[in-house]
Amino acid sequence: MNLKELMKEAGIVGSGGAGFPSYAKLAEGADTLVINGAECEPLLYTDYVLLHKEINAVLTGIKEVLEYANIPRALLCVKEHTAKRLRLTDGAKLADKIFLKTLPDVYPMGDEISLIYQSTGRVVRPGNLPITAGVIVYNVETMYNVAQMVKRGEPLVEKWVTVAGNVPEPIVVKVPIGTPVWALFEKNGIAVPAEHTVLDGGPSMGKAIDPETAVITKTTKGLLILPDNCEAIVSKFIDGAKSIARAETACCQCTRCTDMCPRALLGYPLEPHKMVRTAKSAVTALPQMVLSATLCCGCGVCESLACCQGISPKAVINEYKALLAKNKLRYVGKTDVEPAPEREYRMIPSERWASVLGVAKFDKLAKYIGEQNDFPRVEILLRQHIGAPSVPIVKDGDIVQKGDKIAESAEGLSLPQYASVSGRITVEEGVKIIIEKDRA
Ligand code: SF4
Ligand code: SF4
Repeated sequence: MNLKELMKEAGIVGSGGAGFPSYAKLAEGADTLVINGAECEPLLYTDYVLLHKEINAVLTGIKEVLEYANIPRALLCVKEHTAKRLRLTDGAKLADKIFLKTLPDVYPMGDEISLIYQSTGRVVRPGNLPITAGVIVYNVETMYNVAQMVKRGEPLVEKWVTVAGNVPEPIVVKVPIGTPVWALFEKNGIAVPAEHTVLDGGPSMGKAIDPETAVITKTTKGLLILPDNCEAIVSKFIDGAKSIARAETACCQCTRCTDMCPRALLGYPLEPHKMVRTAKSAVTALPQMVLSATLCCGCGVCESLACCQGISPKAVINEYKALLAKNKLRYVGKTDVEPAPEREYRMIPSERWASVLGVAKFDKLAKYIGEQNDFPRVEILLRQHIGAPSVPIVKDGDIVQKGDKIAESAEGLSLPQYASVSGRITVEEGVKIIIEKDRA
């Protein structure tokens, strides 16, 4: 098998965000491999810890991709504060063809489009994939996973996760995929206080989860316990319909949401103030304007920082996005764009962003506590990636060993799944495969 086939067979996905199957990004025509170590969101330190503890494995993964796809160079991108902690400087040669690129300490830098511009000076044309700009982007942890697969023949069964927020001490821990969140908290003496919410992901882009039922997935970068009254949590529960009603009456058309939008500042034809203006009459809005909703990266700058009227342009745009997705419509339109000269003055310092979200007081470097794998059960979700869910190849009562394949790829874009611990199987059809250890 070649590297692309191996990455598919190992079940490797982008280790944060939406979970795009990594093999599907390996296309011909790239001249730069950009490794995203921006760790853009406040409180998360997973990538930093990986680079601190396992930089050689990360570099091994990068070398494998460079060689397979015949890419002449790689830029390992980290924010200035991370570079300082790692004692690395901008432009440092980390290995043959691999260089460090420092990014300013601003939000959002982890957004693929912003990252590519910041690290290479290229703007990916609106509605296009990074490969059209000659770039492939992978996360730091994805490269680590590629190295584990190539050097040890291991499929993806473990995840590095930050646990932070209102906790005694923020930690980074390596756990089996499928570990129940409640079990991880219990093992580490972490309780969720009253009037707090748990997020899977960062305070800006993470999703609220129920810690009693949620499990660690291939895309879980961090678990944050945050007070319900902080902006990070309040913004998660904004009602789209109410937002539209409010937008109609309260928007003063100051254009601040557009002026501060990171995608608009890159020249993208995305104008949240216009979307807010036509919120209740989308059908009469210019089709082009509605289609541009798909260019929004969901960073939340417009709702949490820009708007002075308590309106969420992001929530309005999400309504448009849902409508477009339902009708399978994508952006078509202007692709020749240039970043605005004022962009560099409008980027948001990371510390300011953490304050805006109400999480600055929790921001403390997380401590790596190693590997934990003695949990009584894991639950492997069949849908942990973009594309079709995996198809179980085990049945109730089967005994599996760690690393055994338990689900196959479906047709089309899909990935297999592997047992992250040894134990006895129970299949919940179409949803998950449970592995119980003490019943092995
Ligand atoms: S969430 Fe708002 S600020 Fe961010 S990209 Fe979308 S429209 Fe722009
Ligand atoms: S920032 Fe708020 S008030 Fe100003 S145009 Fe945008 S939605 Fe309207």
